[in-house]
Amino acid sequence: MASNIGIMDRSDQLSRLGLFDSRVPRYTSYPTAPQFTPGVSADEMAAWIEAIPDRSEISVYVHVPFCRRLCWFCACRTQGTRNPATVRAYLETLKSEIGHLRQFLDPSVRIARLHWGGGTPTLLTPEMIADLAGAIADAAPLADGAEFSVEIDPNEIDDARLDALVAAGMNRASIGIQDFDPEIQAAIGRLQSYDVTRHAVDALRARGIASLNADILYGLPHQTRPRIAESVQRLLSLNPDRVALYGYAHVPWMARRQAIIPAESLPTPSERLELFRTARELFLWDGYEEIGIDHFARPEDGMARAAREGRLRRNFQGYTEDTAPVLVGLGASAISRFPQGYAQNASSTGDYTKRIRAGMFATARGHVLSRGDRLRGRMIEALMCDFRIDSAEMVECHGATQAQLSELYREAVARFADFVTVTPDGLSIRPEGRPLARMIARCFDAYDLASTGHSSAV
Ligand code: SF4
Repeated sequence: MASNIGIMDRSDQLSRLGLFDSRVPRYTSYPTAPQFTPGVSADEMAAWIEAIPDRSEISVYVHVPFCRRLCWFCACRTQGTRNPATVRAYLETLKSEIGHLRQFLDPSVRIARLHWGGGTPTLLTPEMIADLAGAIADAAPLADGAEFSVEIDPNEIDDARLDALVAAGMNRASIGIQDFDPEIQAAIGRLQSYDVTRHAVDALRARGIASLNADILYGLPHQTRPRIAESVQRLLSLNPDRVALYGYAHVPWMARRQAIIPAESLPTPSERLELFRTARELFLWDGYEEIGIDHFARPEDGMARAAREGRLRRNFQGYTEDTAPVLVGLGASAISRFPQGYAQNASSTGDYTKRIRAGMFATARGHVLSRGDRLRGRMIEALMCDFRIDSAEMVECHGATQAQLSELYREAVARFADFVTVTPDGLSIRPEGRPLARMIARCFDAYDLASTGHSSAV
Protein backbone atom coordinates (compact mmCIF):
# COMPACT_ATOMS: atom_id res chain seq x y z
CA MET A 1 0.00 0.00 0.00
CA ALA A 2 2.79 2.39 0.98
CA SER A 3 4.47 1.96 -2.42
CA ASN A 4 1.14 2.63 -4.21
CA ILE A 5 0.80 5.88 -2.34
CA GLY A 6 4.37 6.69 -3.39
CA ILE A 7 3.54 6.06 -7.02
CA MET A 8 0.38 8.20 -6.78
CA ASP A 9 2.34 11.04 -5.16
CA ARG A 10 4.91 10.79 -7.91
CA SER A 11 2.21 10.77 -10.60
CA ASP A 12 0.66 13.86 -9.03
CA GLN A 13 4.02 15.54 -9.11
CA LEU A 14 4.59 14.55 -12.76
CA SER A 15 1.11 15.88 -13.50
CA ARG A 16 1.82 19.22 -11.81
CA LEU A 17 4.95 19.52 -13.94
CA GLY A 18 2.77 19.20 -17.03
CA LEU A 19 3.76 15.69 -18.13
CA PHE A 20 0.20 14.73 -19.00
CA ASP A 21 -0.73 17.77 -21.04
CA SER A 22 2.50 18.90 -22.64
CA ARG A 23 3.25 18.47 -26.29
CA VAL A 24 6.97 18.10 -26.85
CA PRO A 25 9.17 16.89 -29.70
CA ARG A 26 10.64 13.40 -29.81
CA TYR A 27 13.99 15.04 -30.62
CA THR A 28 15.12 12.80 -33.42
CA SER A 29 17.00 15.87 -34.67
CA TYR A 30 17.87 19.33 -33.39
CA PRO A 31 16.43 21.61 -34.46
CA THR A 32 13.35 19.49 -35.13
CA ALA A 33 12.06 19.16 -38.70
CA PRO A 34 9.18 21.68 -38.26
CA GLN A 35 11.86 24.35 -37.76
CA PHE A 36 13.43 23.69 -41.17
CA THR A 37 13.16 26.53 -43.70
CA PRO A 38 13.54 26.85 -47.50
CA GLY A 39 16.99 28.33 -46.77
CA VAL A 40 18.72 25.07 -47.74
CA SER A 41 18.70 24.29 -51.46
CA ALA A 42 19.69 21.51 -53.83
CA ASP A 43 22.99 23.35 -54.37
CA GLU A 44 23.83 23.09 -50.66
CA MET A 45 22.91 19.41 -50.74
CA ALA A 46 25.32 18.86 -53.66
CA ALA A 47 28.09 20.84 -51.93
CA TRP A 48 27.63 18.94 -48.67
CA ILE A 49 27.81 15.61 -50.50
CA GLU A 50 30.94 16.72 -52.35
CA ALA A 51 32.50 17.66 -49.02
CA ILE A 52 32.21 14.09 -47.65
CA PRO A 53 35.83 13.01 -47.15
CA ASP A 54 37.27 10.23 -49.33
CA ARG A 55 36.96 6.70 -47.90
CA SER A 56 34.23 7.80 -45.46
CA GLU A 57 31.55 5.42 -44.28
CA ILE A 58 28.08 6.95 -44.44
CA SER A 59 24.51 5.94 -43.64
CA VAL A 60 21.74 5.94 -46.22
CA TYR A 61 17.96 5.97 -45.70
CA VAL A 62 15.58 5.17 -48.56
CA HIS A 63 11.92 6.18 -48.23
CA VAL A 64 9.19 4.25 -50.05
CA PRO A 65 6.04 6.37 -49.51
CA PHE A 66 3.37 3.84 -50.52
CA CYS A 67 1.13 1.40 -48.72
CA ARG A 68 -1.47 -0.97 -50.14
CA ARG A 69 -3.99 0.56 -47.70
CA LEU A 70 -3.64 3.27 -45.12
CA CYS A 71 -3.96 2.42 -41.43
CA TRP A 72 -5.93 5.01 -39.51
CA PHE A 73 -3.48 5.45 -36.64
CA CYS A 74 -0.43 6.04 -38.83
CA ALA A 75 1.06 9.52 -39.21
CA CYS A 76 3.83 8.42 -41.61
CA ARG A 77 4.30 10.27 -44.88
CA THR A 78 2.78 7.66 -47.15
CA GLN A 79 0.01 7.31 -49.70
CA GLY A 80 -2.25 4.41 -50.57
CA THR A 81 -1.78 2.76 -53.93
CA ARG A 82 -2.53 -0.57 -55.52
CA ASN A 83 -1.11 0.45 -58.86
CA PRO A 84 2.28 -1.17 -59.68
CA ALA A 85 2.87 1.51 -62.33
CA THR A 86 2.87 4.22 -59.63
CA VAL A 87 5.46 2.31 -57.63
CA ARG A 88 7.55 1.60 -60.75
CA ALA A 89 7.53 5.30 -61.70
CA TYR A 90 8.66 6.24 -58.19
CA LEU A 91 11.45 3.68 -58.35
CA GLU A 92 12.71 5.23 -61.59
CA THR A 93 12.75 8.65 -59.88
CA LEU A 94 14.63 7.19 -56.92
CA LYS A 95 17.19 5.73 -59.30
CA SER A 96 17.64 9.17 -60.91
CA GLU A 97 18.20 10.66 -57.46
CA ILE A 98 20.76 7.96 -56.72
CA GLY A 99 22.37 8.87 -60.07
CA HIS A 100 22.73 12.51 -58.87
CA LEU A 101 24.23 11.25 -55.64
CA ARG A 102 26.75 9.22 -57.59
CA GLN A 103 27.87 12.31 -59.52
CA PHE A 104 28.82 14.15 -56.34
CA LEU A 105 29.97 11.30 -54.09
CA ASP A 106 33.60 10.21 -54.11
CA PRO A 107 33.84 6.61 -55.42
CA SER A 108 35.79 5.56 -52.32
CA VAL A 109 32.81 6.25 -50.01
CA ARG A 110 31.08 3.15 -48.58
CA ILE A 111 27.70 2.62 -46.90
CA ALA A 112 27.99 1.33 -43.34
CA ARG A 113 24.27 1.44 -42.63
CA LEU A 114 21.44 1.20 -45.11
CA HIS A 115 17.80 1.38 -44.08
CA TRP A 116 14.71 1.07 -46.27
CA GLY A 117 11.62 2.49 -44.62
CA GLY A 118 8.25 3.93 -45.44
CA GLY A 119 5.47 3.49 -46.08
CA THR A 120 5.90 -0.12 -47.04
CA PRO A 121 9.22 -0.96 -48.73
CA THR A 122 8.11 -4.60 -48.99
CA LEU A 123 5.53 -3.42 -51.51
CA LEU A 124 8.36 -3.50 -54.06
CA THR A 125 8.43 -6.61 -56.26
CA PRO A 126 11.52 -8.87 -56.18
CA GLU A 127 12.72 -7.32 -59.45
CA MET A 128 12.29 -3.79 -58.07
CA ILE A 129 14.19 -4.77 -54.89
CA ALA A 130 17.14 -6.04 -56.94
CA ASP A 131 16.98 -2.98 -59.20
CA LEU A 132 17.01 -0.50 -56.29
CA ALA A 133 19.75 -2.35 -54.40
CA GLY A 134 21.85 -2.46 -57.58
CA ALA A 135 21.47 1.29 -58.17
CA ILE A 136 22.53 2.05 -54.59
CA ALA A 137 25.54 -0.28 -54.84
CA ASP A 138 26.61 1.49 -58.05
CA ALA A 139 26.64 4.81 -56.22
CA ALA A 140 28.29 3.50 -53.03
CA PRO A 141 28.82 -0.18 -52.21
CA LEU A 142 28.07 -1.58 -48.77
CA ALA A 143 31.11 -1.55 -46.47
CA ASP A 144 32.41 -4.79 -44.96
CA GLY A 145 30.16 -5.64 -42.02
CA ALA A 146 27.52 -3.12 -43.12
CA GLU A 147 24.06 -3.26 -41.58
CA PHE A 148 21.17 -3.31 -44.04
CA SER A 149 17.77 -3.15 -42.40
CA VAL A 150 14.32 -3.10 -43.93
CA GLU A 151 10.89 -2.36 -42.46
CA ILE A 152 8.92 -5.55 -43.11
CA ASP A 153 5.13 -5.46 -43.25
CA PRO A 154 3.99 -9.00 -42.32
CA ASN A 155 0.81 -8.41 -44.36
CA GLU A 156 2.87 -7.49 -47.39
CA ILE A 157 5.70 -10.00 -47.73
CA ASP A 158 6.26 -13.37 -49.34
CA ASP A 159 9.12 -15.79 -49.90
CA ALA A 160 10.17 -14.26 -53.24
CA ARG A 161 10.43 -10.74 -51.82
CA LEU A 162 12.26 -11.98 -48.71
CA ASP A 163 14.70 -13.91 -50.89
CA ALA A 164 15.30 -10.80 -53.00
CA LEU A 165 15.95 -8.69 -49.90
CA VAL A 166 18.38 -11.24 -48.48
CA ALA A 167 20.13 -11.51 -51.86
CA ALA A 168 20.47 -7.69 -51.82
CA GLY A 169 22.24 -7.93 -48.46
CA MET A 170 19.47 -7.33 -45.88
CA ASN A 171 20.71 -8.61 -42.52
CA ARG A 172 18.31 -6.83 -40.13
CA ALA A 173 14.58 -6.43 -40.12
CA SER A 174 12.04 -4.29 -38.36
CA ILE A 175 8.42 -5.31 -37.91
CA GLY A 176 5.56 -3.04 -36.90
CA ILE A 177 3.12 -4.78 -34.56
CA GLN A 178 1.23 -2.02 -32.68
CA ASP A 179 -0.94 -4.41 -30.59
CA PHE A 180 -2.15 -7.98 -31.09
CA ASP A 181 -5.64 -7.37 -29.66
CA PRO A 182 -8.25 -7.74 -32.48
CA GLU A 183 -10.57 -5.04 -31.10
CA ILE A 184 -7.70 -2.57 -30.89
CA GLN A 185 -6.50 -3.54 -34.36
CA ALA A 186 -10.03 -2.93 -35.72
CA ALA A 187 -10.16 0.46 -33.97
CA ILE A 188 -6.89 1.62 -35.55
CA GLY A 189 -7.64 0.22 -39.02
CA ARG A 190 -4.74 -2.21 -39.03
CA LEU A 191 -5.53 -5.94 -39.03
CA GLN A 192 -2.48 -8.13 -38.55
CA SER A 193 -2.96 -11.46 -36.83
CA TYR A 194 -0.43 -13.06 -34.53
CA ASP A 195 -0.10 -15.96 -36.98
CA VAL A 196 0.75 -13.64 -39.88
CA THR A 197 3.37 -11.89 -37.76
CA ARG A 198 4.77 -15.20 -36.46
CA HIS A 199 5.05 -16.49 -40.02
CA ALA A 200 7.01 -13.40 -41.12
CA VAL A 201 9.34 -13.69 -38.12
CA ASP A 202 9.96 -17.39 -38.78
CA ALA A 203 10.60 -16.71 -42.48
CA LEU A 204 13.12 -13.99 -41.60
CA ARG A 205 14.93 -16.16 -39.08
CA ALA A 206 14.99 -19.11 -41.50
CA ARG A 207 16.93 -16.84 -43.86
CA GLY A 208 19.53 -16.04 -41.23
CA ILE A 209 18.37 -12.53 -40.34
CA ALA A 210 20.42 -11.98 -37.22
CA SER A 211 18.65 -9.03 -35.72
CA LEU A 212 14.95 -8.39 -35.42
CA ASN A 213 13.36 -5.18 -34.18
CA ALA A 214 9.68 -4.90 -33.28
CA ASP A 215 7.59 -1.76 -32.74
CA ILE A 216 4.66 -1.84 -30.34
CA LEU A 217 2.40 1.05 -29.32
CA TYR A 218 0.89 2.15 -26.03
CA GLY A 219 -1.92 4.67 -25.74
CA LEU A 220 -4.09 3.03 -28.42
CA PRO A 221 -7.92 3.13 -28.36
CA HIS A 222 -9.48 0.62 -25.92
CA GLN A 223 -6.03 -0.38 -24.64
CA THR A 224 -6.01 -1.43 -20.98
CA ARG A 225 -3.29 -2.78 -18.74
CA PRO A 226 -4.40 -6.45 -19.12
CA ARG A 227 -4.61 -6.00 -22.88
CA ILE A 228 -1.16 -4.48 -23.27
CA ALA A 229 0.23 -7.15 -20.94
CA GLU A 230 -1.26 -9.84 -23.18
CA SER A 231 0.17 -8.20 -26.31
CA VAL A 232 3.61 -7.86 -24.76
CA GLN A 233 3.56 -11.54 -23.74
CA ARG A 234 2.73 -12.50 -27.31
CA LEU A 235 5.47 -10.25 -28.60
CA LEU A 236 7.95 -11.81 -26.17
CA SER A 237 7.09 -15.23 -27.60
CA LEU A 238 8.63 -13.95 -30.86
CA ASN A 239 11.84 -13.10 -29.00
CA PRO A 240 12.76 -9.86 -30.81
CA ASP A 241 16.29 -8.56 -30.24
CA ARG A 242 15.03 -5.01 -29.83
CA VAL A 243 11.67 -3.47 -29.08
CA ALA A 244 10.52 0.10 -29.56
CA LEU A 245 7.63 0.94 -27.24
CA TYR A 246 6.23 4.12 -28.76
CA GLY A 247 3.36 6.22 -27.50
CA TYR A 248 0.55 6.55 -30.03
CA ALA A 249 0.40 10.24 -30.95
CA HIS A 250 -3.18 11.31 -31.67
CA VAL A 251 -2.70 14.39 -33.86
CA PRO A 252 -5.69 14.37 -36.28
CA TRP A 253 -5.01 18.02 -37.17
CA MET A 254 -1.72 16.80 -38.72
CA ALA A 255 -2.63 13.22 -39.74
CA ARG A 256 -6.21 13.58 -40.95
CA ARG A 257 -7.04 9.86 -41.12
CA GLN A 258 -6.62 9.67 -37.33
CA ALA A 259 -9.92 11.57 -37.10
CA ILE A 260 -11.61 8.17 -37.72
CA ILE A 261 -10.40 7.11 -34.25
CA PRO A 262 -12.81 8.52 -31.65
CA ALA A 263 -10.89 10.55 -29.09
CA GLU A 264 -13.10 9.16 -26.29
CA SER A 265 -11.76 5.63 -26.94
CA LEU A 266 -8.22 6.74 -26.09
CA PRO A 267 -6.67 6.25 -22.67
CA THR A 268 -6.14 9.35 -20.58
CA PRO A 269 -2.58 10.69 -20.24
CA SER A 270 -2.17 9.15 -16.78
CA GLU A 271 -3.51 5.84 -18.12
CA ARG A 272 -0.92 6.10 -20.91
CA LEU A 273 1.81 6.29 -18.29
CA GLU A 274 0.41 3.17 -16.60
CA LEU A 275 0.29 1.34 -19.95
CA PHE A 276 3.91 2.24 -20.59
CA ARG A 277 4.93 1.12 -17.11
CA THR A 278 3.08 -2.20 -17.47
CA ALA A 279 4.81 -3.01 -20.75
CA ARG A 280 8.16 -1.80 -19.45
CA GLU A 281 7.98 -4.07 -16.40
CA LEU A 282 7.31 -7.09 -18.60
CA PHE A 283 10.29 -6.36 -20.87
CA LEU A 284 12.56 -5.88 -17.86
CA TRP A 285 11.31 -9.09 -16.22
CA ASP A 286 12.09 -10.92 -19.44
CA GLY A 287 15.71 -9.75 -19.33
CA TYR A 288 15.64 -6.84 -21.76
CA GLU A 289 17.69 -3.76 -20.96
CA GLU A 290 15.99 -0.39 -21.06
CA ILE A 291 17.43 1.91 -23.72
CA GLY A 292 16.70 5.62 -23.52
CA ILE A 293 13.08 6.67 -23.16
CA ASP A 294 11.28 4.00 -25.20
CA HIS A 295 13.49 1.11 -26.36
CA PHE A 296 14.40 -2.26 -24.91
CA ALA A 297 17.11 -4.63 -26.12
CA ARG A 298 18.59 -8.00 -25.28
CA PRO A 299 21.83 -7.44 -23.32
CA GLU A 300 23.93 -8.94 -26.14
CA ASP A 301 22.30 -6.73 -28.81
CA GLY A 302 24.45 -4.00 -30.36
CA MET A 303 22.11 -1.25 -29.19
CA ALA A 304 22.30 -2.44 -25.57
CA ARG A 305 26.10 -2.54 -25.82
CA ALA A 306 26.14 0.96 -27.33
CA ALA A 307 23.95 2.24 -24.48
CA ARG A 308 26.22 0.68 -21.85
CA GLU A 309 29.30 2.18 -23.52
CA GLY A 310 27.84 5.68 -24.01
CA ARG A 311 27.70 5.30 -27.82
CA LEU A 312 23.93 5.53 -28.20
CA ARG A 313 22.71 8.22 -30.60
CA ARG A 314 19.42 9.59 -31.96
CA ASN A 315 18.48 9.76 -35.61
CA PHE A 316 15.24 9.98 -37.57
CA GLN A 317 14.46 6.32 -36.87
CA GLY A 318 14.84 6.85 -33.10
CA TYR A 319 17.74 5.30 -31.19
CA THR A 320 20.75 4.02 -33.08
CA GLU A 321 24.35 2.92 -32.59
CA ASP A 322 25.11 4.80 -35.80
CA THR A 323 27.76 7.45 -35.17
CA ALA A 324 28.42 8.27 -38.86
CA PRO A 325 28.40 12.05 -39.35
CA VAL A 326 26.54 11.76 -42.67
CA LEU A 327 23.12 10.25 -43.29
CA VAL A 328 21.86 10.63 -46.85
CA GLY A 329 18.07 10.46 -47.14
CA LEU A 330 16.66 9.38 -50.52
CA GLY A 331 13.05 9.60 -51.63
CA ALA A 332 10.12 11.94 -51.07
CA SER A 333 10.29 13.78 -47.70
CA ALA A 334 13.56 12.04 -46.71
CA ILE A 335 15.93 14.06 -44.53
CA SER A 336 19.71 14.08 -44.91
CA ARG A 337 22.04 15.01 -42.09
CA PHE A 338 25.54 16.41 -42.63
CA PRO A 339 28.05 18.03 -40.26
CA GLN A 340 26.97 21.31 -41.91
CA GLY A 341 23.20 20.86 -41.41
CA TYR A 342 19.99 19.16 -42.50
CA ALA A 343 18.45 18.93 -45.97
CA GLN A 344 14.92 17.61 -46.52
CA ASN A 345 13.49 16.48 -49.84
CA ALA A 346 10.16 17.82 -51.08
CA SER A 347 7.41 16.03 -49.17
CA SER A 348 4.87 15.31 -51.86
CA THR A 349 5.76 12.60 -54.34
CA GLY A 350 4.72 14.91 -57.21
CA ASP A 351 6.98 17.80 -56.14
CA TYR A 352 9.84 15.39 -55.39
CA THR A 353 9.49 13.80 -58.84
CA LYS A 354 9.36 17.17 -60.61
CA ARG A 355 12.57 18.34 -58.95
CA ILE A 356 14.46 15.11 -59.66
CA ARG A 357 13.28 15.09 -63.30
CA ALA A 358 14.60 18.64 -63.65
CA GLY A 359 18.04 17.12 -63.07
CA MET A 360 18.71 18.29 -59.53
CA PHE A 361 18.39 17.11 -55.97
CA ALA A 362 14.89 17.40 -54.51
CA THR A 363 15.92 19.47 -51.48
CA ALA A 364 13.07 21.77 -50.44
CA ARG A 365 14.00 22.80 -46.89
CA GLY A 366 16.58 22.32 -44.23
CA HIS A 367 18.71 24.03 -41.67
CA VAL A 368 22.35 25.16 -41.51
CA LEU A 369 23.72 24.29 -38.08
CA SER A 370 25.28 27.04 -35.99
CA ARG A 371 27.78 26.37 -33.23
CA GLY A 372 25.01 26.96 -30.71
CA ASP A 373 22.76 24.43 -32.49
CA ARG A 374 25.50 21.80 -32.27
CA LEU A 375 26.00 22.38 -28.56
CA ARG A 376 22.29 22.38 -27.72
CA GLY A 377 21.64 19.46 -30.09
CA ARG A 378 24.28 17.31 -28.44
CA MET A 379 22.96 18.22 -24.96
CA ILE A 380 19.45 17.19 -25.99
CA GLU A 381 20.71 13.98 -27.59
CA ALA A 382 22.73 13.12 -24.48
CA LEU A 383 19.68 13.61 -22.25
CA MET A 384 17.50 11.48 -24.54
CA CYS A 385 20.15 8.71 -24.79
CA ASP A 386 22.00 8.70 -21.45
CA PHE A 387 19.79 10.89 -19.21
CA ARG A 388 22.86 13.00 -18.49
CA ILE A 389 24.94 15.79 -19.96
CA ASP A 390 28.69 15.47 -19.55
CA SER A 391 30.04 19.01 -19.04
CA ALA A 392 33.59 17.97 -20.02
CA GLU A 393 32.34 16.70 -23.40
CA MET A 394 30.49 19.97 -24.03
CA VAL A 395 33.64 21.97 -23.20
CA GLU A 396 36.08 19.77 -25.14
CA CYS A 397 33.97 18.93 -28.20
CA HIS A 398 31.69 21.95 -28.51
CA GLY A 399 33.73 24.80 -27.07
CA ALA A 400 31.26 25.59 -24.28
CA THR A 401 32.45 27.48 -21.22
CA GLN A 402 31.48 26.52 -17.68
CA ALA A 403 29.60 29.81 -17.39
CA GLN A 404 27.57 28.98 -20.53
CA LEU A 405 26.78 25.52 -19.23
CA SER A 406 25.63 26.87 -15.86
CA GLU A 407 23.35 29.29 -17.70
CA LEU A 408 21.97 26.51 -19.91
CA TYR A 409 21.38 24.20 -16.93
CA ARG A 410 19.54 26.93 -15.02
CA GLU A 411 16.08 26.55 -16.59
CA ALA A 412 16.06 22.75 -16.24
CA VAL A 413 17.05 23.03 -12.59
CA ALA A 414 14.46 25.74 -11.92
CA ARG A 415 11.60 23.78 -13.51
CA PHE A 416 12.55 20.21 -12.56
CA ALA A 417 14.45 20.64 -9.29
CA ASP A 418 13.21 17.34 -7.82
CA PHE A 419 14.18 15.36 -10.89
CA VAL A 420 17.58 16.65 -12.02
CA THR A 421 20.96 16.80 -10.30
CA VAL A 422 23.78 19.17 -11.22
CA THR A 423 27.34 18.36 -10.15
CA PRO A 424 30.72 19.60 -11.43
CA ASP A 425 30.53 16.68 -13.92
CA GLY A 426 27.28 17.82 -15.52
CA LEU A 427 23.51 17.52 -15.32
CA SER A 428 21.70 14.21 -14.88
CA ILE A 429 18.06 13.16 -14.73
CA ARG A 430 17.23 11.02 -11.69
CA PRO A 431 15.63 7.63 -12.45
CA GLU A 432 12.20 8.78 -11.24
CA GLY A 433 12.41 11.76 -13.59
CA ARG A 434 12.94 9.70 -16.76
CA PRO A 435 9.32 10.09 -17.94
CA LEU A 436 10.11 13.82 -18.08
CA ALA A 437 13.20 13.42 -20.29
CA ARG A 438 11.61 15.04 -23.37
CA MET A 439 10.30 17.94 -21.28
CA ILE A 440 13.68 18.45 -19.63
CA ALA A 441 15.38 18.24 -23.03
CA ARG A 442 13.01 20.95 -24.23
CA CYS A 443 14.60 23.37 -21.75
CA PHE A 444 17.69 23.25 -23.99
CA ASP A 445 15.75 23.94 -27.19
CA ALA A 446 16.19 27.54 -28.33
CA TYR A 447 13.48 27.39 -31.04
CA ASP A 448 9.85 28.42 -30.78
CA LEU A 449 7.81 25.24 -30.50
CA ALA A 450 4.48 26.99 -30.03
CA SER A 451 2.94 26.22 -33.39
CA THR A 452 4.46 22.90 -34.36
CA GLY A 453 1.86 20.45 -32.92
CA HIS A 454 4.24 17.96 -31.31
CA SER A 455 3.06 14.75 -29.66
CA SER A 456 2.03 14.20 -26.07
CA ALA A 457 4.91 14.12 -23.59
CA VAL A 458 3.88 10.64 -22.41
S1 SF4 B 1 1.30 1.55 -40.44
FE1 SF4 B 1 2.64 0.92 -42.12
S2 SF4 B 1 1.19 0.00 -43.60
FE2 SF4 B 1 -0.06 1.22 -42.19
S3 SF4 B 1 -0.24 3.25 -43.20
FE3 SF4 B 1 1.53 3.34 -41.81
S4 SF4 B 1 3.31 2.85 -43.05
FE4 SF4 B 1 1.48 2.17 -44.17
